[in-house]
Amino acid sequence: MAGSWRTGSPAASFVPVADAPGSSVDEDSNGNAAATAAVVGSGALPLRRRSEARPPKTAVLLARHIVDEITDRRLVPGDRLTPEREMLVQYGVGRGTLREALRFLEIQGIVRMKSGPGGGAVVNSPDSSHLASTLALLFQVRGSTFAEVLELRSIIETSLAGLAAERATAEDIAGLAECVETMEACIDDLDAFLEENSRFHERFAAASGNPLSGLLVEGLHYFGHSTLQELPYTEANRRELTKAHRMTLAAIRDRDPAAAVAAMRVHIDDFTAYLQRSHPGALTTPVRWTWATR
Ligand SMILES: [Zn+2]
Repeated sequence: MAGSWRTGSPAASFVPVADAPGSSVDEDSNGNAAATAAVVGSGALPLRRRSEARPPKTAVLLARHIVDEITDRRLVPGDRLTPEREMLVQYGVGRGTLREALRFLEIQGIVRMKSGPGGGAVVNSPDSSHLASTLALLFQVRGSTFAEVLELRSIIETSLAGLAAERATAEDIAGLAECVETMEACIDDLDAFLEENSRFHERFAAASGNPLSGLLVEGLHYFGHSTLQELPYTEANRRELTKAHRMTLAAIRDRDPAAAVAAMRVHIDDFTAYLQRSHPGALTTPVRWTWATR
């Protein structure tokens, strides 16, 4: 079963054109023939010929529509979506297509499926871990190395340092200062130290005033692969990291973008140089999807 998509209100925009078993319009393997046939019937060229690209599967079109409904109705995490039986009627699709659409959204972190009586699809809050997973998957199949990930971090985070120096609020600065103080206080507790280290980078990205960059930086910080997790992080390393954070913080506090950019560049470049010297294999290791999935 399939439908065609039109603009208009969310509830009315998915128009089923073949919603009965034994319909004369067959679905292709993508579930698209009916949608294409509807376009042909209206006198337009078939979708595939016009775009020279394979049209999206019906389940993907339906998933897009469900996302539009979530945002247009301003649903928040924890809100329930329309029950399955009502969606089947509303969208005129088969159960298999609806479940495929919901599964697709579940993998992206947009919904979660609640089981049991009164269960069903519930709005979820996707975060940087979902972005990290997608990035890692792409990087792995393209044969990217960890060195390339670090270079990307350097490009992004140095730019953000300049923005943070211009835009950080007093609250942002207090949060960054708290991170640096905690890093100093727990210099002998490696797990707590590294956690605070990551928190500094997240807060610093947020201080840039661009929420998308925060998401991206957090996503890239998931790429702490197994080799890195086994690094000794000597006391000298930890003091060096803390010093670099303190310098970045000072530049942000002084509202000095050039100094903030320089401090962050030195920080990431120093870390890369340290790996080159002591653990070169960590840099040339091809990215694995498992690094960024939990
Ligand atoms: Zn750092």
